[in-house]
Amino acid sequence: EFLTDMAAKRAELTPDHVAFIDHESGLRYTFCEVNSRATRLGNLLLKHGLSKGDRVAVLCLNHPDFFILLFAAQKTGIVLVPLNWRQPVAELRPVLAASRAKFLFHDLTCADTASKLAEDGDIPFLMLGSADGAPSALDQVLSSVSPAAIGCGRVKASTPWYLLFTSGTTGLPKAVIQTAGMAYANMINYAQATGLSVGESGVNFLPLFHTAGINLPTLPIFLNGGSSTILRKFDPDTVLGLIDAGAVTSFFGVPAIYQALALSAAVGRTDFSSVRSLGCGGAPVPKHLLTDFQKRGVTICNGMGMTETGPTVFLMDRDHAAEKIGSVGKPQILTDVRLVDGEGGVLEGPGEGEIQFRGPNITPGYMDNPDATAGAFTVDGWLSSGDVGRRDEDGYYFIVDRIKDMYISGGENVYPAEVEKALVSHPDILEAVVVGLPDATWGEVGAAFVIARPDRKIDTSSLPGWCREYLAPYKIPKTFSVVDDLPRTAAGKVRKNVLKDQLSTHKA
Ligand code: ATP
Ligand code: MG
Repeated sequence: EFLTDMAAKRAELTPDHVAFIDHESGLRYTFCEVNSRATRLGNLLLKHGLSKGDRVAVLCLNHPDFFILLFAAQKTGIVLVPLNWRQPVAELRPVLAASRAKFLFHDLTCADTASKLAEDGDIPFLMLGSADGAPSALDQVLSSVSPAAIGCGRVKASTPWYLLFTSGTTGLPKAVIQTAGMAYANMINYAQATGLSVGESGVNFLPLFHTAGINLPTLPIFLNGGSSTILRKFDPDTVLGLIDAGAVTSFFGVPAIYQALALSAAVGRTDFSSVRSLGCGGAPVPKHLLTDFQKRGVTICNGMGMTETGPTVFLMDRDHAAEKIGSVGKPQILTDVRLVDGEGGVLEGPGEGEIQFRGPNITPGYMDNPDATAGAFTVDGWLSSGDVGRRDEDGYYFIVDRIKDMYISGGENVYPAEVEKALVSHPDILEAVVVGLPDATWGEVGAAFVIARPDRKIDTSSLPGWCREYLAPYKIPKTFSVVDDLPRTAAGKVRKNVLKDQLSTHKA
């Protein structure tokens, strides 16, 4: 029921170890410094009249202060609302209003956006971080705030700690309540799945306003007393440089990150031998990407999770990654998984069905949205993922596709992910996306969009023939279009609903 105050506990256990390295400024923060800064920050918010349950928004590129603010929120029971810095003021305004945040933190990059938002919403705002390591506005303010410890060092597991927005792949992003208990359960799932030891080093360049960035590369390592290098954002050469220098032992990236690393000229001369674990997840990962890295002696472990699940549920174990290529592994230590067929029957043994979850890492629900929450859970309390999964005879799981993306062509179910896999195995194709579109004859047919590999040209007339080698005829897309890029979420996922809308307006 009760958990410890993470920053305070670490400051007690390993006060002088380095918790964060801010890559841009070179500043290092020990656990003791992190805890005392988080305490002052918490006291600052209390001084402003905020209290338990109140919300505080943050709009910044990655910086250790983001996590320090997160620990301040834990100490005070305040709920942190990380905002997406890629969104313009017009998109952020309703999000901020809906969150009812009473304070806004931002960095230099987001200063203009933040001041407009704060003026509109009539809320105080303050700049954190520091571009060059010089004292920031926050440093000056904090120097006069009380360093006295807050609370009793214990945190209720059910207390909301932060709000996270889903990627918005299938519609508008939904605000998921992330409790302290969920966060700790995720850290345990992730540490167990990756064999995380005490004192490892990570690097974080993923957007911190999404579940992967905030929950995977840093918090489990922090809990285990290790250090995280924080990059403002992703840059392939910087990341490969850190790996090569032996500064990273535990690594997490989404498929788009591995794709970018694979395309970087430096990847061939990068020594990966210090990295003990490389996790991947959040979107389907092309098999060739896994095998390309495998050929370099680098094993990437594919995993699956959702914002609603904290996120870690599935993560492949290193030893079976090559044999079960593409699998997301087995359900992790604290989480139960079941597969359910179309009639609601629970499948035993090998089979295919909707993936459902239960465990301490599952959200209690969406913020201010009881209908969406009710819709996400089964009557017996399991979270419905909306994803179809397959379990093999050894208990390993494979993600088939989202139920929403499936379309029916001539009475047969087509999972676009399967068609996309066939297309990306083509030597000229870097990325492929297939959506189902209405068709007078077949009900629905597939429309494929393909992006060429660098220095390659795609001959679309050859693609139906290529697909025939791998797919039943009804699965072969009716049209193939070469494109330079696609509408994407901040996490790099393709927004198929936007693509479909664009196609139908195009036709109209
Ligand atoms: P929204 O819920 O707003 O439509 P989203 O579902 O993409 O967006 P997230 O919570 O970030 O938001 O992503 C979770 C989803 O990502 C899963 O439900 C699943 O569809 C997909 N996913 C995660 N990992 C994998 C993976 N390894 N392979 C395939 N799909 C994955
Ligand atoms: Mg979702």
